[in-house]
Amino acid sequence: MKAKIQEKFQTLFGEAGDLYASAGRINLIGEHTDYNGGYVFPGAIDCGIMAEIKVNGTQKVRAYSIDFDEFVEFGLQEEDAPGQQWARYIFGVCRETVKRGGKVEGFDTVFAGDVPLGAGLSSSAALESTFAFALNDIFGNGIDKFDLAKIGQSTEHNYCGVKCGIMDQFASIFGKAGSLIRLNCKTLEYKYFPFKPEGYRLVLVDSCVKHELASSAYNKRRASCENAAAAIRKNHPEVEFLSDAKRVWLDEVRTEIPEEDFLRAEYVIGEVQRVLDVCDALERGDYETVGEMMYQTHFGMSKLYEVSCEELDFLNKLARKMDVTGSRVMGGGFGGCTINLVKDELYDTFIEEAVKQFTEKFGHAPKIYPVVISDGARKL
Ligand code: ADP
Ligand code: MG
Repeated sequence: MKAKIQEKFQTLFGEAGDLYASAGRINLIGEHTDYNGGYVFPGAIDCGIMAEIKVNGTQKVRAYSIDFDEFVEFGLQEEDAPGQQWARYIFGVCRETVKRGGKVEGFDTVFAGDVPLGAGLSSSAALESTFAFALNDIFGNGIDKFDLAKIGQSTEHNYCGVKCGIMDQFASIFGKAGSLIRLNCKTLEYKYFPFKPEGYRLVLVDSCVKHELASSAYNKRRASCENAAAAIRKNHPEVEFLSDAKRVWLDEVRTEIPEEDFLRAEYVIGEVQRVLDVCDALERGDYETVGEMMYQTHFGMSKLYEVSCEELDFLNKLARKMDVTGSRVMGGGFGGCTINLVKDELYDTFIEEAVKQFTEKFGHAPKIYPVVISDGARKL
């Protein structure tokens, strides 16, 4: 990838620039916890975006995407937004940097990536974080890392029409090799935990399906959580978000709220605890417990929160049957990937069986993405 970028940069712009990179991400555990003020537990992975960048002395950005084989030129004012989606991410990062008082002038760039697009690994955050980090470095803006993540998030909100949380950009900016990051979505406090699963591998199995229920179901889940939190708050005023509630406090209001809301809340409160349990387990190097918690999350997402689907349940069940250490749906649900923690010696047979049995059942092959927890945004 690097050689390709450098060759193209040389051809288009002559003189060489500086190289920057950032990463996609996984979330080991902590799903549907963000809007409930709970924890997420992401890490950057070994696929991402790489860009060569050089200031060009004008007020224009000239950008070439290797993967889309497309060249775009745009100015830096609000009215200069380019039409191409991929270029809007770069434009948005420039604008959001300026809005935070940073300096951005014209530059030339060639970039490429290897995060699968739209697979739930956040290729868009990798792209935003690469440029947010790079522009901050090149123009000496001194913007702190949290704000670099927010530049990416605001880019999604204001220039790409995606109302996302902060997790993806946070992981991509803060990611470190061999570490996952527990982020408290209420206070934005974070802490690194070691993730060095010797003898195990992390692999995503992409069902390649997306069921359309997702956005209406999402709104309904949020409403259930808010309803449960409101009921608990009457007894325990300190409960701002559902994740502040203890399990026994939920039991107190069981008869006051619809059964459905109770089950949704049961999942969320359990999930917040599971993140903490996984962090404890990682500090002991106990990957078997980590895996068991992943299965519990899958059960909760499937049976209590009801955001799984047939394809994901099939992959999860197969993993369990084959003695895979941990497996669960990753992301919001209704499609996408399962994330699996698999012993080295089981890896090849698991992948073989997953591909074979899934294809037989659903008529198309799943995609397989092995991942290693790696560094996030950086200069190369
Ligand atoms: P994801 O879940 O992977 O973040 P999104 O739809 O949010 O999916 O982002 C994908 C978009 O990000 C692509 O349509 C493209 O505009 C941009 N993008 C991601 N990776 C690349 C790349 N390697 N080259 C150019 N654009 C990219
Ligand atoms: Mg995205």
